[in-house]
Amino acid sequence: MTKALQAAGGKPWRPGKMSTVLVAVLMTMPPLVVIFSGRIGDQAMWIKTAVDGIRGGTDDDVSFMKHPTTSHDKLLGGLLVDGFDQESCHSRYQSAAYRRNAGRRPSEHLVSKLRRHEDLQRRCGPGTAAYSAAVEQLKSGKSPAAAEASPEACRYLVSISYRGLGNRILAAASAFLYAMLTDRVLLVDPSNEMGELFCEPFAGTTWLLPPEFPLVGYQGFYLHTAERYGKMREDRVLRPDGGEAAAAAPPPAFAYIHLDYNQTDYDKLFFCDEDQRLLSSIQWLVMRTDSYIVPGLFLVDAFQDELAALFPERDAVFHHLGRYLFHPTNHVWGLVTRYYRGHLAWARRRVGIQVRVSSWEWESPEILRTITSCTQDEGLLPRVLDDTDQEPPATAAASARRGLRPSAVVITSLKSWYYEKMKGMYWERATESGEVVVFDQPSHEEQQMYGVRAHERKAWAEMYLLSTTDVLVTTGTSTFGYVAQGLGGLTPWVLPRREVNGTAPPCRRDMSMEPCFHVAPLYDCKRWEDAGKIVPHVRHCHDMPAGLKLVDRTEW
Ligand code: GDP
Repeated sequence: MTKALQAAGGKPWRPGKMSTVLVAVLMTMPPLVVIFSGRIGDQAMWIKTAVDGIRGGTDDDVSFMKHPTTSHDKLLGGLLVDGFDQESCHSRYQSAAYRRNAGRRPSEHLVSKLRRHEDLQRRCGPGTAAYSAAVEQLKSGKSPAAAEASPEACRYLVSISYRGLGNRILAAASAFLYAMLTDRVLLVDPSNEMGELFCEPFAGTTWLLPPEFPLVGYQGFYLHTAERYGKMREDRVLRPDGGEAAAAAPPPAFAYIHLDYNQTDYDKLFFCDEDQRLLSSIQWLVMRTDSYIVPGLFLVDAFQDELAALFPERDAVFHHLGRYLFHPTNHVWGLVTRYYRGHLAWARRRVGIQVRVSSWEWESPEILRTITSCTQDEGLLPRVLDDTDQEPPATAAASARRGLRPSAVVITSLKSWYYEKMKGMYWERATESGEVVVFDQPSHEEQQMYGVRAHERKAWAEMYLLSTTDVLVTTGTSTFGYVAQGLGGLTPWVLPRREVNGTAPPCRRDMSMEPCFHVAPLYDCKRWEDAGKIVPHVRHCHDMPAGLKLVDRTEW
């Protein structure tokens, strides 16, 4: 807290100090409260209330926000349940207060499905008799044969966590949807900080795979793994049409689903109806993907009716799953809220720009030009005047001084070069409208790191901060950007991932806020047709033409 704020909170109001205190308060206050009635007494009252909002409340106090959360909002239209311990996870019920965009409403069917799934997770999760029985069955090497399976027996999906944080989030969200569709309990591999970055999503149980899980070395499962589903299908150890041997033998205790970038055509059979029937008899599945496989689930006939009921708005699947599952833990939430209150809360307009660059384009004038033209041509930011000596017309400057609060831009990037250039441009030159634009960047970590807790926390906080903005510019193909746009309910303007022949193509508004499934299968396991042209609501992505994404309108 600044000294000026401490003074304002601790002593009676003195008109002579007004300007100092006011500037300090304006720097930290949301827009709506910055309204003056013209009477000093009222101003003093307002400032006291505002300052109390910052300093007096507990961490859970969001009364300083423009729209304090109502109980309805805080549960995101029924997506979340009430009754979690708030101290252990501040973000869960506070997040709604940090977004002007309230987001989409979940369908009633999704809400009731989530409640039933939570029951399943509690009934079968770690520590229950059902979990112990399933672990014993796993050790036996066979799934229970259909005739022997008790109606109480539970089935499980273990999701392996690897690669960057955006990849891990999309993989866990995809695994969760698959688990819901197939009535499996989702357990997430806790390595790579998954237990440290996210609060538990299900009340009264854990989604983290316990350390004593008997499949030793499951995190190393890969193409060579004998129990890989695609391999068992290729070797005809598993056959959907049964066959004598298959009919005689009980299903294996587990199968490893390999959906990494190098998946084979046999691995892709996962997205076929008859393979889903076969998989349903296997009690434990272990899945590796770094992708958002959800558009692939929309290709499976057996899932289509249920998916349509769960998500009548097809472009909001990750939006709902993400807001349901991923709540920053308290430390990360501290990073989010401190930055937000200091750098975004007061702004007239908040703009997020994600610049995901690789080592060969750390400082690319071409990409900088694309960012500038994208934000100015698309009306996301005011235009700057050409000449540093030029000033805006007096009328524009005066009206800017009178009422237009500054816009705030949060840039995220591993490097600070793009931020420095943008900030410099908007400081050294006036805007045509006289409007002021303030740039900031929470961190510049210089390079991607693995297994470094502080680095992961910043990455998660920055994705989240991007999601709190009013308009968003992302970098094509980046899962980091996909997470931000989905959580925020924002259809982004997409920058090209890299220069092509020394030039960067212009940005483009995306078709939907859904992430792209980069390594997508073909449609229909017998005809092998182009899924992006046949299935309603599934189209090829702009940023990765071979990939697939969900759209709400079918004419794309
Ligand atoms: P993708 O590689 O763009 O698809 O996104 P991922 O999130 O999967 O992996 C990139 C990783 O690099 C992140 O998880 C961070 O560890 C790091 N990273 C990339 N860009 C940024 C950034 O703007 N801010 C921070 N803090 N980390 C970043």
